[in-house]
Amino acid sequence: MNLDQQIKRYLPRQLLELVKDISGQAAKQKQRVYLVGGVVRDLLIGYPNFDLDLVVEGDAVKLAQQVAETSQARLLAHHRFGTAKLGYENFTLDLATARKETYAEPGALPTVTPGTLQDDLLRRDFSINAMAISLASKDYGELVDPHKGKNDLEHRLIRILHNRSFSDDATRILRAIRYEQRLGFRLESQTAQLLKLDIHMLDTISGDRIRHELELIFKEKQPEFVINRLAELGVLPRISPFLKGNGWIAEKFDRARRLNKPTQLPSLYFCLLIYSFKVTEIEQLLARLNIPTKLSKAMHDTLLLKTKLPFIDTSPLKPSEIYYLLREYEPLAIQANAIASEPSMAQRYLQLFLTKLRYVRTSLDGEELKRLGISAGPEMGKVLQILHKAKLDGEVKTRADEKKLALSLSRKL
Ligand code: ATP
Ligand code: MG
Repeated sequence: MNLDQQIKRYLPRQLLELVKDISGQAAKQKQRVYLVGGVVRDLLIGYPNFDLDLVVEGDAVKLAQQVAETSQARLLAHHRFGTAKLGYENFTLDLATARKETYAEPGALPTVTPGTLQDDLLRRDFSINAMAISLASKDYGELVDPHKGKNDLEHRLIRILHNRSFSDDATRILRAIRYEQRLGFRLESQTAQLLKLDIHMLDTISGDRIRHELELIFKEKQPEFVINRLAELGVLPRISPFLKGNGWIAEKFDRARRLNKPTQLPSLYFCLLIYSFKVTEIEQLLARLNIPTKLSKAMHDTLLLKTKLPFIDTSPLKPSEIYYLLREYEPLAIQANAIASEPSMAQRYLQLFLTKLRYVRTSLDGEELKRLGISAGPEMGKVLQILHKAKLDGEVKTRADEKKLALSLSRKL
């Protein structure tokens, strides 16, 4: 099958010219270049994807170096892995030397040796991700599909390439469900059976790698579908016995998307995922996933603030009191509580903090206070704080109001 038409239709011309040029340079040294992985899958289903992965039968790093020398591309090479990234103004291209992988033990990183395109496709996760398109001039656009990925795409199936796939690399369990839910596919029946049998193999995977796969899930349009399915299959409890997927999570994830920027979402989803945990129950998960310090603090703060909400809810608070109460917590934790808590006075306070109070600044700064005769040090700190509180509570509005207040304070101090 030739995909020349699909390539023309879905890839921007500039990107295509580039890829052809790379393939031309490779041909001069008797090397062959192929498009592989996600982009091939997405071309066949008519889904835009400009994240191009190229496999080189030869030496990808050397080829990338040559391309970078003759063009404006930035080069990032990993000699040890035989991979290189070329950065252009609007795209990046990933080049990898075709390789063969063997697993010394389950869950370990594979031993890598140079190989053919066929070897490279055989090491991949699912048949739909194990196709390539030739970029050589003599068979340009030809589909290479040794594992019948196209047939599986047509039958909407996620299929592993061999029976040891999930035990060799159990991150594929998380990947399988991510694609299943993204594409609305089913697990092929033997793949489904092996997935269930190999869930315990997740224990062989490092925290960083599991966290990375969760982050990829959290970049999906609707990660709650993936989370719910992982819960249903018993995958989540293998990571932490307290992790759940349910309607509540789905509703809160959806709300998070409506209220937040996409870049904030992955961290926010982590905080929402542990909202029903007791404080003592998150330690194991933080350690298991090797969660970085800042996110770990946000997750802790989420639960600490949650325990405070009933108290905040019963006491009428001035804006300045709300501000000084909440500024101790990571903004992400406040966000998570604003999303996850029930409509209440406390929830309104959290929203007020996030949308307004945290941005309030006094008009006067230290320099101006000095000119009013207030000396730097604790005295000035005090004045600035009183000004800030007055501004939060609407007791001063203009610069003139602030000056007046500052002067009267300096007389008393
Ligand atoms: P996406 O649209 O999610 O980016 P993708 O196919 O580009 O899909 P990547 O995670 O970017 O997925 O990985 C690129 C390719 O590398 C995949 O298509 C797959 O062939 C291969 N791959 C990635 N992770 C694994 C894995 N754990 N085991 C085997 N092959 C993998
Ligand atoms: Mg990709």
